[in-house]
Amino acid sequence: MPPKPSAVIDEALVERFTKIGLDATKAKEAASNNTMSSTLLDIITEAGVPVDGCEKPVGQLLYLISTKYPANALKHRAVLAQCVAKKTVTAINIQASFDYLHRVGSQDLDVADFEKQCGVGVVITKEQVREAVATFIEERLAELKEVRYRYNMASYLATVRERLKWAESRDIKEEMDKKVLEVLGPKTEADNAPVPKTKPAPVAAAAAPVANEAPKEKSLAELAGISIHRESITFPDPKDNIQETPDLLAKHLKETGGMVVTRFPPEPNGYLHIGHAKAMHLSFSYAKKNGGKCYLRFDDTNPEKESQEYIDSIIENVGWLGHKPCDTTYSSHYFDQLYDLAIELIKRGYAYVCHQTPKELSECRQNMTDSPYRNRSVEENLALFEDMKKGKYEEGKATLRMKGDMKHPNPCMRDLIAYRIKYHPHPVSGDKWVIYPSYDYTHCLVDSIENITHSLCTLEFEVRRLSYNWLVDVLGLYRPVVWEYARLNLTHTVLSKRKIITLVKDKHVNGWDDPRLSTLNAFRRKGYTPESINLLCETIGVTRANNTTIPYELLEFCLRQDLNDKVTRAMVVLDPIKVVITNFPEGQTEEITVNNIPHIPTAGSHKVQLSNVVYIERTDFRLQDDPNYFGLAPNKEVLLRYAYNIKCNEVIQDNTGKVTELRVTYDKTNATKTKAIHWVSSKSGQKPTAIEVRLYGHLFLEENLGDDWITKVNPNSLEIIPNALADDTILGAKEYDRFQFERTGFFCVDKDSTAEKLVFNRTCALKENKADPKKAADPRRSRK
Ligand code: ATP
Ligand code: MG
Repeated sequence: MPPKPSAVIDEALVERFTKIGLDATKAKEAASNNTMSSTLLDIITEAGVPVDGCEKPVGQLLYLISTKYPANALKHRAVLAQCVAKKTVTAINIQASFDYLHRVGSQDLDVADFEKQCGVGVVITKEQVREAVATFIEERLAELKEVRYRYNMASYLATVRERLKWAESRDIKEEMDKKVLEVLGPKTEADNAPVPKTKPAPVAAAAAPVANEAPKEKSLAELAGISIHRESITFPDPKDNIQETPDLLAKHLKETGGMVVTRFPPEPNGYLHIGHAKAMHLSFSYAKKNGGKCYLRFDDTNPEKESQEYIDSIIENVGWLGHKPCDTTYSSHYFDQLYDLAIELIKRGYAYVCHQTPKELSECRQNMTDSPYRNRSVEENLALFEDMKKGKYEEGKATLRMKGDMKHPNPCMRDLIAYRIKYHPHPVSGDKWVIYPSYDYTHCLVDSIENITHSLCTLEFEVRRLSYNWLVDVLGLYRPVVWEYARLNLTHTVLSKRKIITLVKDKHVNGWDDPRLSTLNAFRRKGYTPESINLLCETIGVTRANNTTIPYELLEFCLRQDLNDKVTRAMVVLDPIKVVITNFPEGQTEEITVNNIPHIPTAGSHKVQLSNVVYIERTDFRLQDDPNYFGLAPNKEVLLRYAYNIKCNEVIQDNTGKVTELRVTYDKTNATKTKAIHWVSSKSGQKPTAIEVRLYGHLFLEENLGDDWITKVNPNSLEIIPNALADDTILGAKEYDRFQFERTGFFCVDKDSTAEKLVFNRTCALKENKADPKKAADPRRSRK
């Protein structure tokens, strides 16, 4: 808004605003606007700014409050204004403060929580920034040395900023530049040379995890018309990994003979989902391609959430996907060894027994303050840990904590819990223990014990890499290479055991293997092949770019690629109209030969029966023909696929107008029509077999789901057709047998089938219908 003519501007106001550091134009502008000037004045008063003004940065933030402060939280504005005046809220945390107060609105303000969440009064020193940057660069050293000055500056800065939320950006940038220079030395000519332009990396159906190989042919994603992000990746060589002492690498190499050793480490607290297929594919195929071995290791340190049922199902899923673990191990098998290492850790002065409540503990970790129990003697700690083991404490009354660095910018270094008390029997170790090691304590130690060369995990573990290395180092153990990659996300679905549990418990679906879920059991039940899932994993490769979501259509594309050459055709009519062939001799049946897979003549053939009663799809008949319609209509001729032309002579309708029967004649000498419709008949005098068909749509219609994902469940994701008619090809089919129902889709026999009735799940449509996959599968609606 332009300032009012100077004559009407209150000069006293302009002066007051200038004294808080606004420049002349802004001060005049504010003074000339009644609402704005009175708001700003109120804020200046609330902040307690004296008449002679305040420093410019403070004044500018007060001005910002006058324009940006959330209107729903006016009653707390003075608190913020005073923080600004005291400089405990600065440009760094003002936005977080606005956001926080906006959430609080007119409710009471918990000042302590506000201060904690918004970093009020937190000062991050340059020294802290230096340390955080140094730590980060150490973690990324191998990568940085490889890419040199072509490192992703934005992502590096963002990661450090995430860890040091209230640090000055320019301090981080300054430190980063310094550290990079220190590590890499000045830029060389090669660093300055332009990057040679390479074509986007397409993948043939190979591109596996490691050093994603140079692509030779069009990628599947390209064929599917889907663009995905790919990266060229080389894992660090374990021989370059820093070890606490040089003999550790020598010992490791002696034990492994230099072989690649990986592991897939699921926690048996739920059923595996397709994200885990990516994790498995990465670790198992990397080992296989390099002549190494991969363990299936159950990371079973949370007995109350784990069960034998999950263990069994995970073993089954791993096998189903075709992976062959060199051994199946359990973290719990190492409980004795881990306990001995805990004793050693205490003796080395790196662990102590702590009695803080979970709340106190987390507050201290947040505030970087020591636990009062931190400096106990080794003897005392050994005795107390023994008490913990003997069950002398109640749950929650004592923990063993790793003695890291409570002032460390990385929270994972701030005395994580190593052991906690749980009076809960364990699915594998039974009642033997009442103390259980934590994930952070266990995972790295078991990796080290198993001589893992590449500990591959998803990016959310990146922040824990430092404590992983710290623990193996202080215990003087071999340190594996840890390398993180982006989780698989898939559109229209959730990939998290916790969310899947909610969907099952709240009965949005019917159990863990409901074909609408993303569990491997669900995909299997729906008719997916392990090959198609592995093909997806190969196609997408592995990247470190977080937050990419793979389109579900790419998965379906991989599936069709696999099924197309494998699956026998059958004819099934979902919504039948009876058709009587009036010139077909009654009481007779003709056997028609159908190739199992039309484009693969060597795939054999099967017979279907034709008699005078045939059923066709309701959408394949219209009373009113039109030139774009290739189905049947009065007086029109079409081909019954694999059989003969028929011509519609008579239409019988009920009193609502619904067509109940068509009377046609066939031409035994003529099968010339190119447009063919599918049909079902049976031996003369018999009805074709009725089957139940289940058509699935996406469980979530939206592609990407936010925090309110549960509200986005599609209530119409399942349609059951109780009485579709099938030709005899499907007779005797067993659970998991697959067929392509001509013109309809790929289908698979469901476990709910009985001796009386087969139940089929639609695995996927023949072609995708992006808007609603259910429609593509349903010829009644999809065909013109
Ligand atoms: P969820 O969040 O679904 O419970 P999780 O990470 O807790 O998964 P774990 O049993 O701990 O499940 O996972 C075993 C391995 O699978 C881990 O190495 C984990 O990083 C990896 N993993 C889990 N989800 C995905 C995913 N969506 N994409 C790729 N890897 C995954
Ligand atoms: Mg987990």
